[in-house]
Amino acid sequence: MVIGILKEEAPERRVSMLPETVAAITKMNVSVAIEQGSGSGAFASDEAYIAAGGKILSKEELIRQADLIIKINPPTERELLLLGEGKILLAVLNPFFNPEIIKKLASKNITSFSLDIIPRTSRAQSMDILSSMATVSGYKAVLTAANNLPKFFPMFMTAAGTISPAKVLILGAGVAGLQALATSRKLGAVVEVFDVRSAVREEVTGLGGKFVEVEGATDDKSAGGYAVEQTDDFKKKQAEAIHDHAVRSDVIICTAQIPGKKAPILLKRETVEGMKAGSVVIDLASSTGGNCELTKNGESVVHHGVTIIGNSSFPVEMPTDASKMFGKNTLNFLKLMINPKGEFNLNWDDDIVKGTCVTHNKEIVNEKIKSAIHS
Ligand code: NAD
Repeated sequence: MVIGILKEEAPERRVSMLPETVAAITKMNVSVAIEQGSGSGAFASDEAYIAAGGKILSKEELIRQADLIIKINPPTERELLLLGEGKILLAVLNPFFNPEIIKKLASKNITSFSLDIIPRTSRAQSMDILSSMATVSGYKAVLTAANNLPKFFPMFMTAAGTISPAKVLILGAGVAGLQALATSRKLGAVVEVFDVRSAVREEVTGLGGKFVEVEGATDDKSAGGYAVEQTDDFKKKQAEAIHDHAVRSDVIICTAQIPGKKAPILLKRETVEGMKAGSVVIDLASSTGGNCELTKNGESVVHHGVTIIGNSSFPVEMPTDASKMFGKNTLNFLKLMINPKGEFNLNWDDDIVKGTCVTHNKEIVNEKIKSAIHS
């Protein structure tokens, strides 16, 4: 079997596998082809891939020769055209937001796996690319906030007087939020955290943050640990509570998301207008609408002296470690479907394989995605 690594398009700088992961895959009785220049954004040369046991091909030749193709971002129109029937594709397809790509993959009889829908189970933890990328995002969000803030993060006792520590407010205590909390604490800030899931209270306090709870949140156990949409009454109460804490903060890191849905608006215009000039908002939820009413995805805007940075692509800015984590997660996933002879072996009884598959045999096989696309 030939596994192919496709090159991502700018501004993406990550690559789905670094040479070190290619070296590990070649031990699985498969050969690996890499599109020319794939690793350049992550400082991995074609020569390093060759030394790791891979071969370098053009895009056309790679798609023709490879049985299983790996990418981070969804395939481009050109790649979709080139993909022949029966190929296997692994990528972050973001299926709820890319229905046309999913329909095309099904009609072309491509067996596709969307790495962003790997079930959130203990066994799948080592394959969880969402967690890996959220770790990068939470860390980078704090560094970006610190770089943009006109004051220190830590407290300082100096001959020129005492500098008080920065106050950081984190909205959403998932993987990115907890990493943002840990990084902010390491930099010496005082941190408060909001989440609708009270289950995260212990993790927040364990990392040195203060958990702020708003009573009456809907916490749906059947949502698999994820947040669900809240009632209008709760949203009103939460907006008031967030307002009170936000106007006293120097930095707000927004990370709240609801899978497959638009991100909840948690920071209203009037709250931003009540914040201190010079404060910084980093909105990691910007690609799904953002948690701040004023966020513009991929842009930095200044409103009443408050800088609001809408960035859901921080992993692109840390391509080496982001690619390393992505590759390792993908390698662990591949181990579920490649047998010791190096053959593709799809086991539908495996909940991780089944739960990650989007299209197979010309059908959309994931029921949730199918009903979202056909509704
Ligand atoms: P996410 O990116 O979907 O959301 C980020 C956070 O925002 C969540 O904590 C969510 O509760 C919170 N949020 C949503 N709406 C909100 C609102 N209106 N107000 C305040 N907060 C709000 O989350 P994630 O990082 O992907 O993690 C989701 C869950 O998955 C967590 O329970 C996490 O522990 C779990 N998880 C499990 C595994 C695994 O077992 N393999 C791996 C990673 C995460």
